[in-house]
Amino acid sequence: MNPTLEIFSQGEEIVTGQTVDTNAAWLSQQAVACGFTVTRHTAVGDKLDDLIVLLQDIAQRADCCICTGGLGPTSDDLTAEAVARAFNLPLQFDAIAFEQISRFFVNRNRIMPASNRKQAMLPQGAELIKNDWGTAPGFSLHYGRCWFAFLPGVPMEMMNLFQESILPTLPTRFLLQPGQLVSIKTFGLGESVIQERIHSIEIPAEVQLGFRAGTDDVQTKLLFPFAYSQSAMTALVARLAEPLGDYVFAIEGLGETVGDLIFEIDKLMTARKHTLAIVETASHGLLAAKCIGLEWLLSASYQQATARLGTKIDTESLITAAKALAVDLQKAGGADYVLVQLYAGDNQTLHNKDQSIVVYNILLAGDTFQQATHSIAGPIKRKQNQAALLALDLLRRYLQDKAISD
Ligand code: ATP
Ligand code: MG
Repeated sequence: MNPTLEIFSQGEEIVTGQTVDTNAAWLSQQAVACGFTVTRHTAVGDKLDDLIVLLQDIAQRADCCICTGGLGPTSDDLTAEAVARAFNLPLQFDAIAFEQISRFFVNRNRIMPASNRKQAMLPQGAELIKNDWGTAPGFSLHYGRCWFAFLPGVPMEMMNLFQESILPTLPTRFLLQPGQLVSIKTFGLGESVIQERIHSIEIPAEVQLGFRAGTDDVQTKLLFPFAYSQSAMTALVARLAEPLGDYVFAIEGLGETVGDLIFEIDKLMTARKHTLAIVETASHGLLAAKCIGLEWLLSASYQQATARLGTKIDTESLITAAKALAVDLQKAGGADYVLVQLYAGDNQTLHNKDQSIVVYNILLAGDTFQQATHSIAGPIKRKQNQAALLALDLLRRYLQDKAISD
């Protein structure tokens, strides 16, 4: 049986919904990947009594607990005091913690406020977790059945401390037998279509199959038990990916670092040292926004398609005009690829959630054109996002040498 782990997040801003508890989500994923069974997430406001009761309960029921937040110098940062009271441990001044906090201020040429001394007061017996990214050091201790780790609330600090100081020690504290999660990432196929395509493939009872439909992709997930045969795993993944065809843009969990659609495009564009120019219509700037900060994006512009290309002309003439625009752009800017997204309908249709739109994507690569046509339904936000992703997917298919459409 896997050891159990609970996560709790401290702070009034979490329980009131002003801050979304991303720490718990991130930590959960890490814990599951390590081989824990995560049993509970709790958020507690800045109330000492609530914190004390929670800590005492967790000490009885979980093997491991990770708490974030409440380690700062202000009066609403109550974690160390709650631990001291819950487990009847006096708070003691920790000279090493104090030295680290002082150094943080010296390195930034700032005077340390007196209140920061509070952060060097740790419950007796606690082990210091050093924090090179902020002032609040973390600490860990064992009480009852549970090993507790207390980390700062600021996500960047929390993640760094977890990866540096917690993760490497976990196998020495717990018997961890992590499963292996493999995720087949597709764009353009719905969950139900995926299910239909793979339903005849036999999945061994010990392998868990699941789906996660996001706005930007659908993931078909396979959780393999600890020490599962690697060759059997690879073979099963290949069998499932096969009927999903060129909709698969990446497979995560088999060793290679993969990401979302734009991550995969970025890998290939960077490797090929190629550049791209974009003209978008229906996605209203979102296509460019998805490529933000990527060096290979040479230029991006948004056009009301109708302003330049007109609405009255037939589809074929529109596409011819879009192709001419791509050639002009390539000549003028020198991009290796030009991606033109063409929506020539009216704004009303675009904004009407009950009407679908037709979008043409044209990719000029070198001197050849690729072209794909798509119908997009739903509210404006969905149409914009899908339009942006469909344009990117045309580029992705071209770069990955996949069929443009099937
Ligand atoms: P410090 O007060 O020294 O910054 P701390 O450990 O006391 O550190 P908090 O005061 O609880 O941390 O939170 C600091 C900031 O970190 C919050 O204002 C919030 O922006 C962010 N934060 C805290 N907890 C979470 C959480 N669970 N998920 C996401 N962000 C969080
Ligand atoms: Mg704080």
